[in-house]
Amino acid sequence: KKIIIAIDGFSSTGKSTLAKHLGYVYVDTGAMYRAVTLFAMQNNCIGIDFLDKEKLIKSLPSIKLSFKFNSELGFAEMYLNDVNVETEIRTLEVSGFVSRVAAISEVRSKLVEQQQEMGKEKGIVMDGRDIGTVVFPNAELKIFMTAGADTRAQRRFDELQAKGDLVSYDEVLKNVVERDYIDTHRDDSPLVMADDAIEVDNSYLDRKEQFDVVLELVNE
Ligand code: C5P
Repeated sequence: KKIIIAIDGFSSTGKSTLAKHLGYVYVDTGAMYRAVTLFAMQNNCIGIDFLDKEKLIKSLPSIKLSFKFNSELGFAEMYLNDVNVETEIRTLEVSGFVSRVAAISEVRSKLVEQQQEMGKEKGIVMDGRDIGTVVFPNAELKIFMTAGADTRAQRRFDELQAKGDLVSYDEVLKNVVERDYIDTHRDDSPLVMADDAIEVDNSYLDRKEQFDVVLELVNE
């Protein structure tokens, strides 16, 4: 029986591998918030010291988000108005603004609606911050991932370095801590663990171990 698996909490690894193993669709909802942020940056809704919420809200109807599966990479890439933005959305610059954009209710309702539409087809692993609480409160399996901020920052730092991004570990850590704060304190759908979620601390689990832990929960 195909189900909906909601994975929330703080970013971790190995989730797209799990979806592939199960023959499920993997949806990274963080990529959608990142793409809206990139749009805001490209259309002067964001500058060094401002976020023009009204302008962004007015532009929302002209933002089209889609995922296209890349069989070589083995995962779906993010498209913003039919342009592949998979690389641009992962920069520290986007990470620096995304939590403020994700705190805007109008942005959230647009994205949540699109995510719920994608879930009509069962057999989905959806990864985010509010999947088990808001997007699919009836998901059959909810997992809440935690790990220390330093562990998560190290993982992000390693990813960015592998891509040749010249950032320091301290900058990445500062961003992770700031996003955690904004995500847990915003008015609309703050990051909290659903009452019926299972908590998994992946601080000391490598990619393979995280995969095994989640697969075991799916098979229970
Ligand atoms: O998962 P990722 O770290 O790429 O998410 C980027 C940001 O997008 C988060 O820090 C959060 O502000 C926002 N987000 C959200 N709700 C989701 C997924 C991501 O608010 N479901």
